[in-house]
Amino acid sequence: MLYIKCPYCGYRSQNEFAYGGDATIKRPELNKEVTDKEWDNFVYLRKSPRGKHLELWHHVSGCRQWIKVLRDTNTHEIFNTYKSEDKVET
Ligand SMILES: [Zn+2]
Repeated sequence: MLYIKCPYCGYRSQNEFAYGGDATIKRPELNKEVTDKEWDNFVYLRKSPRGKHLELWHHVSGCRQWIKVLRDTNTHEIFNTYKSEDKVET
């Protein structure tokens, strides 16, 4: 069981959160022409990294905020958590 420190609520059980995917994915710029391939890559292609990874989590059963979690996907160690708008260098 993971305990995730929500930046708004403090430490909570993993059961209160839903995993939201890779937090490093950048959406194509609004109103910019993109090829079908670029759009497919944005929508479907994801890496499955082993090690330190910045992830999005949704505090579904708490404050309902999206947060970023810097977590080791191998050991599940959580290094830090951030508000969704925070810029994080990985
Ligand atoms: Zn929260």
